[in-house]
Amino acid sequence: MFKVNEIFETIQGEGFFTGVPSIFIRLQGCPVGCAWCDTKQTWDVLEEKETDFGTIIVKSGDDEYWCQSSAKDLVDYCIAHYSAKHVVITGGEPCQYDLLPLTSELEAKGYRCQIETSGTFEVQATAETWVTVSPKIGMKGKLPIAASAMSRANEIKHPVGKESDIDELKALLAAHPLSPATEVLLQPISQKPRATKLCIDTCIENNWRLSVQTHKYLNIA
Ligand code: SF4
Repeated sequence: MFKVNEIFETIQGEGFFTGVPSIFIRLQGCPVGCAWCDTKQTWDVLEEKETDFGTIIVKSGDDEYWCQSSAKDLVDYCIAHYSAKHVVITGGEPCQYDLLPLTSELEAKGYRCQIETSGTFEVQATAETWVTVSPKIGMKGKLPIAASAMSRANEIKHPVGKESDIDELKALLAAHPLSPATEVLLQPISQKPRATKLCIDTCIENNWRLSVQTHKYLNIA
């Protein structure tokens, strides 16, 4: 069973699959503790916030309510209600869960899966699942980046606010060399002009890619 905070359909706003119609399944629970986190409502799994699937699927704002759901129920719901064929499993920190049953079930029904993770847990998913690691280094939760997550990554999407964030990424990549097929993307935190310029300059210098949070410019979920 998965603890689900919300499920909705939109356009993937950032990273490699920017612009792709996507179903987002947001799982509850995250111990990482990023200061700028924009989904803090997913951090705690509070017993008193447990509700039913029917309440979760109609929620419109951010809140701490969650429900238990099986992989089969989630997939059946996607088939019945959405047209996107790309499913983003996010959080919270989705890799606290064994995602093999969910990604297998989704793929069996013709979906492509993507996981967005902080890189602090081992990724348990099908071999075909696209893994986006957004490495959260030195956060309040004091969780180290898992070597297995780095080697499994198809995409490293790094949030950047200042020069030291680039230095941290370079140190991480030196400790965990990536396969040549792994994409590296820099993403300015909170669309700040200084961070954006820093990302653009660093991407050009290293032949990396820029990821902008287009959903924030478009004001969509
Ligand atoms: S890993 Fe993601 S959900 Fe968890 S605190 Fe960081 S930004 Fe928020």
